[in-house]
Amino acid sequence: MAEFQANKITDIGPPKYDEMWPQVIKDNYGKWLYHDILEPGVLVHVSESGAKVWSLRCGATRLMTTMFLEQVCKLADEYCGGFFRFTTRNNIEFIVSDESKLEPLKKALADNGALPLGGTGAGVTNIVHTQGWVHCHTPAIDASGVVKAVMDELFDYFNSHKLPAQVRISLACCLNMCGAVHCSDISILGVHRKPPVIEHSHLDKMCEIPTTIAACPTAAIKPNKVDEFKSVAVNADRCMFCGNCYTMCPAMPLADAAGDGIALWVGGKVSNAKSMPMFSKLAVPYIPNEPPRWPTTVNTIKKIVEVYAGDAMKYERVGEWAQRIGWEKFFEKTGLEFSHHHIDDYRFAATTWRTSTQFKW
Ligand code: SF4
Ligand code: SF4
Repeated sequence: MAEFQANKITDIGPPKYDEMWPQVIKDNYGKWLYHDILEPGVLVHVSESGAKVWSLRCGATRLMTTMFLEQVCKLADEYCGGFFRFTTRNNIEFIVSDESKLEPLKKALADNGALPLGGTGAGVTNIVHTQGWVHCHTPAIDASGVVKAVMDELFDYFNSHKLPAQVRISLACCLNMCGAVHCSDISILGVHRKPPVIEHSHLDKMCEIPTTIAACPTAAIKPNKVDEFKSVAVNADRCMFCGNCYTMCPAMPLADAAGDGIALWVGGKVSNAKSMPMFSKLAVPYIPNEPPRWPTTVNTIKKIVEVYAGDAMKYERVGEWAQRIGWEKFFEKTGLEFSHHHIDDYRFAATTWRTSTQFKW
């Protein structure tokens, strides 16, 4: 099998991961003991053999030019033997195995200006996000544009460790949630608020009606005849504006300038340290799309981060802080309005409430 994998000729999928490792990583595979954060953006990893490797984490973008990548490659060639990697949060990590190259690389990054060190420890790291208006077909909001506007405002928290704990922010541009916003300290979620439009006159020519009906997770679509056209009808009360039908059928567009916007969620975390993992909770049900700089979204997130920074105890994540002071106090301190939209009326919540990797009951 291994021989087959090594010899296979295909352009499907990425190259085998261990072909991309620096020699020191190969030599110490399975032997790494621990890592330390030396300063914002700089980590050292120590092996039981005594070998060390440093990773310098820089904020980057999800969409980047070939010119920018060329700069990154040149730096990696000069200081890292050609090695760097991308993180899932669109950071670029330069992998340094020669300690004498560490300070010169830090200076080169500072001189470059476009690759700020940071995103480690008790700060804000880059926002993991989705495709937005640039690429996907169902977004309610842009992705990279919102992320740029928010990170510009939070940059002081990216290259420092002055928050009580790490703050992980994520963005998904529709509720299909490629951005995994359900478990982040602060989540930016694109929401549609209107059912799809149905273009009856050409739906039958563009779409398979049975597959379109089957694509709806809430069974809101049924066959319908409108004039002489075979089409569908949508039960608006059942529709959760997910856009699955539009994925199947381009004659059911969902985007709506007035209906689409942003919901903010807070207090989720994946970490199992100190307390169990938590789902994010709804903080702001709707903010209109405000391109190009989304000021209401940016200011609301900044306010949440600043109140958290001033009020939480050391090592406390946003959700742990909100739970300790009580969610009523969270809304009071952040000045966010509490409305009936915040009340969780999910009927099967009782069966999932105590789902956790920790058993304390
Ligand atoms: S979150 Fe939704 S709109 Fe955004 S990239 Fe994923 S499927 Fe597309
Ligand atoms: S948007 Fe989603 S819930 Fe609404 S009709 Fe389409 S598939 Fe069904």
